[in-house]
Amino acid sequence: MDFELTSEQKAAHQEFRMFVDQEIMPYSDQFDEAQAMPAEVVEKMAKAGYLAAVVPKAHGGLEMDATTFGLLCHEIGRGSASLLSLLTVHGMVCQAILKWGSAEHKTHWLPKLATGEAIGAFGLTEPNIGSDARNIETRVAPTEDGNYRLTGHKQWISFAQVANLFLIIAQCEDKPTAFLVERKTEGFSTEPMSGLLGFRSAMLAKIHMDECLIPASNMIGRIGFGFTHVAGTALDHGRYCIAWGCVGMGQGCLDSSLHYSGTREQFGKFLKDHQLIQQMTADMLTQIKAARLLCLHAGTLKDKGDPSLIMETSIAKYFASNMVQKVAEQAVQIHGANGCSTAYPVQRYYRDAKIMEIIEGSNQMQQMIIAKYGYQNFMTASRQTAN
Ligand SMILES: Cc1cc2nc3c(=O)[nH]c(=O)nc-3n(C[C@H](O)[C@H](O)[C@H](O)COP(=O)(O)OP(=O)(O)OC[C@H]3O[C@@H](n4cnc5c(N)ncnc54)[C@H](O)[C@@H]3O)c2cc1C
Repeated sequence: MDFELTSEQKAAHQEFRMFVDQEIMPYSDQFDEAQAMPAEVVEKMAKAGYLAAVVPKAHGGLEMDATTFGLLCHEIGRGSASLLSLLTVHGMVCQAILKWGSAEHKTHWLPKLATGEAIGAFGLTEPNIGSDARNIETRVAPTEDGNYRLTGHKQWISFAQVANLFLIIAQCEDKPTAFLVERKTEGFSTEPMSGLLGFRSAMLAKIHMDECLIPASNMIGRIGFGFTHVAGTALDHGRYCIAWGCVGMGQGCLDSSLHYSGTREQFGKFLKDHQLIQQMTADMLTQIKAARLLCLHAGTLKDKGDPSLIMETSIAKYFASNMVQKVAEQAVQIHGANGCSTAYPVQRYYRDAKIMEIIEGSNQMQQMIIAKYGYQNFMTASRQTAN
């Protein structure tokens, strides 16, 4: 497979890099310190068209190809993992509407999501339910006039402090089902979460829903499609964003480490000239490159609509999140005490990297999915050999 970028993709990557270097990198630690993403940054993302990245042109979006979108996630991830999570969850809502929404959902919501007039958030996780997502406890009950009453609690929802459109997964007739829920709905409230290890400016919140009246037309897909189909589509998109974001974060770790080890001297020579530092640098570079190739592979499959794209995206997310955790750890090590200070970005990458192994399906969940795929392939190959 050829992963050479086209001239358009290279130009787009350059534009994303400049945006991040000018608008994000200098301020990321301030965002984290304030535990908030400034509204102007979200506006700048919208103005640049980045919130419209995956929305079709017919609905006012940029309709980026998967590789170009991956490069955007790479750069935003390099700038701020918290901001990457906005791009991720907003895109998850767009993708769910695009694939499973009605014509009305698409014409009403996609143009608003594309301009940033609507900010989307993804509400699956609950206080008692994380990985075991099929067993969520939030419920809808039918009303006499054919609508629904929604009751339950969500937790750890990125950008729920500011989003105004929520994709909520709830049990309907004891089957996970997806609904679009607007912030203005009576009985809907959010409670900010703070004191997090990473994603400090991702404006996480708990969501409380108390007998919220939801029009039946707000259901996305059918009853029982909530987890397998709607959340499945959203999470596939989420994993793709996170995988690429991890590569960007890894690159940020490497850039900072190369600069630092080329300027800091110990024992009469630059750190970069000590072989043990070279070993870490070589490992970082190799691991980042491998993760980037897995992401490019997943992106190429996405653009082709190849069915193996879902598994390859899981593999890319699993590898890239493991990679960035190790790379960020090595980057802090190379920076020594300075790596523990906000004077350098590696402390933030280190904190955010751990989150990448937990979100969009934890790495244990990815391991289970990937192992099952491996066994299936093995059994198929064995049967073919036997015949
Ligand atoms: C910063 C941040 C942002 C987030 N944003 C969102 C969001 O926007 N929307 C949303 O819906 N959720 C969000 N989440 C929640 C996230 O998706 C969950 O944390 C994740 O699904 C794991 O669930 P859990 O934390 O409840 O862990 P649990 O499911 O309780 O698992 C705990 C540990 O046990 C492991 N484990 C669980 N089951 C098994 C098993 N069968 N075999 C082996 N190991 C197992 C897990 O891998 C994990 O390591 C966010 C979380 C964080 C930290």
